[in-house]
Amino acid sequence: AERNADLKALIRTIPDFPKPGIQFRDITTLLLDPGGFATVVERMAAMVDGPIDAIAGVEARGFIFGAALARELGSGLVLVRKRGKLPGKTLTEDYALEYGSDSLEMHHDAIPQGARILLIDDLLATGGTAHAAVRLLRGAGASVGQSLFVIDLPDLGGAARLREAGVSVEALVEFE
Ligand code: 5GP
Repeated sequence: AERNADLKALIRTIPDFPKPGIQFRDITTLLLDPGGFATVVERMAAMVDGPIDAIAGVEARGFIFGAALARELGSGLVLVRKRGKLPGKTLTEDYALEYGSDSLEMHHDAIPQGARILLIDDLLATGGTAHAAVRLLRGAGASVGQSLFVIDLPDLGGAARLREAGVSVEALVEFE
């Protein structure tokens, strides 16, 4: 597949999803394009800064890119899941939503102490999800120094929030 696709052009915007006023950035159209998907994985692989022991992908779209990148780099993959999905003993981290809260979980023994973890998700908005994932991974003994996203919405401040927490942040595409 071609590796220099115009990623922004492959991301579809759906107005008023999941509620009025939200412009949802839909990556299903990017995934349908073989060159687009390959371009994401190749560019992310080129951005990886230093050795890592595993990739952590955030449910659900972070699994798609995280898994492909793990395969590309030859690393393992840690699943950071929504509440109640993992069968084994878990660690849990709560995070605030606009209305209410949610939780991320991982298996308590998923990560060896001190393992260097690269965090992957499809989109960074407020950073609430990614920051909770960082707290969860660090609570499990991981060292989390870098995060990569397909899309950043810089106006929402997520990158600043993650950088304050000591995590570097890069994304392939930005939307206002
Ligand atoms: P945050 O916690 O940074 O505010 O929101 C980011 C999380 O919500 C990510 O896990 C991401 O998958 C999801 N998300 C929020 N808005 C969008 C969007 O417009 N498009 C996609 N694909 N995911 C979104």
